[in-house]
Amino acid sequence: MSSPARPIPILDLTRYDEELRRDIGQAVEEVFSSGRFVLGPANEAFEKSLAERLGVRHVLGVASGTDALLVALMALDVGPGDEVVTSPFSFFASAGAVARLGAKPVFVDIDSATFNLDPSRLERALTPRTKAIQPVHLYGQTADMEPILEIARRRGIPVLEDACQAIGATHGGRPAGTLGTLGAFSFYPTKNLGAAGDAGAVATDDDALAALVKSLRVHGSTATYFHDRVGGNFRMDALQAAVLSVKLPRLDGWIERRRAIAKRYDALFADAARTGRLVLPVEAPGRRHVYHQYVVRVADRNALKARLAERGIGSSVFYPVPLHLQKCFAALGGREGDFPQAERAAQEVLALPMFAELTDAEVDRVVSEVLAGLPEA
Ligand SMILES: *Cc1c(COP(=O)(O)O)cnc(C)c1O
Repeated sequence: MSSPARPIPILDLTRYDEELRRDIGQAVEEVFSSGRFVLGPANEAFEKSLAERLGVRHVLGVASGTDALLVALMALDVGPGDEVVTSPFSFFASAGAVARLGAKPVFVDIDSATFNLDPSRLERALTPRTKAIQPVHLYGQTADMEPILEIARRRGIPVLEDACQAIGATHGGRPAGTLGTLGAFSFYPTKNLGAAGDAGAVATDDDALAALVKSLRVHGSTATYFHDRVGGNFRMDALQAAVLSVKLPRLDGWIERRRAIAKRYDALFADAARTGRLVLPVEAPGRRHVYHQYVVRVADRNALKARLAERGIGSSVFYPVPLHLQKCFAALGGREGDFPQAERAAQEVLALPMFAELTDAEVDRVVSEVLAGLPEA
């Protein structure tokens, strides 16, 4: 009898090479030598290199992607009585950050092919109370930004991009997170550019908003112990900045590998997709998808997921409950049927193993296990 094949996790954060391990060790050592552990020179260096890479005037490091959304919304003066329009099919923080400020998240259903906010439904959701439009670039592909930006411009509403899953993605050649008024990034370890803990950043070309974010992340102070407004402690640790500075130059290589893996999945699944056994992710024209997740849709998702688990193949559901149906938002009055595309996606999506260190042989095994777990055409 052959020994059972090794499990293939959806993501393996222990597979990083010796060189990276060594460079990170050295960067961490330098932070200890500097004695500056919060918002020190390591942070300035990272902010500068990310700003250069994004081609944006300001990048401000914060403690998480959630804080990036929160502090950006604060800078836009979002508060009680305001509405922020966003996608119901996202990680919780996209709506949680809005609600924490006493504002109301207003949802717009998604486009079923890209899983992102459907701009054709956007205008109907806007009211005189709409303080910001916050598209989410889910799974590593930007939302359909031209019509979103056009509507926002016409109505004079700022756009905050939730680019937490999309660092390195582009839209018409422009980097995700730099298309709107502000962009929020997450460097949670599982993201395409992951820190060794929590971290995030806000990007903007707007000098005044950048100054606000800079002040709000240190309790609204502009000079030490002089507080112009109430902010919070949203600072990034220097250790995280140091790790991220080592990893940033490698991001494009990792993205290329993710794209190659996605291509391989696409090719190997092509016949099954043609006969309708599963639906593959699409890369919309003019967009560079960075495949933070490779997500397929299948009719009996839970059965496939359970079977894959039995066979040692990791998979995940991002996300099983659309935001309008989350218990904590019950008071907003969301009902089943409000956003049919988001609700259907929540039933059907399944993310397969995707990370730069995944081997071709592993991809092939994932594909054969998925195909064996799907009903015949
Ligand atoms: C990860 C994520 C966030 C929050 O980032 P954290 O760093 O985990 O706080 C927000 N929005 C989306 C879409 C995310 O994927």
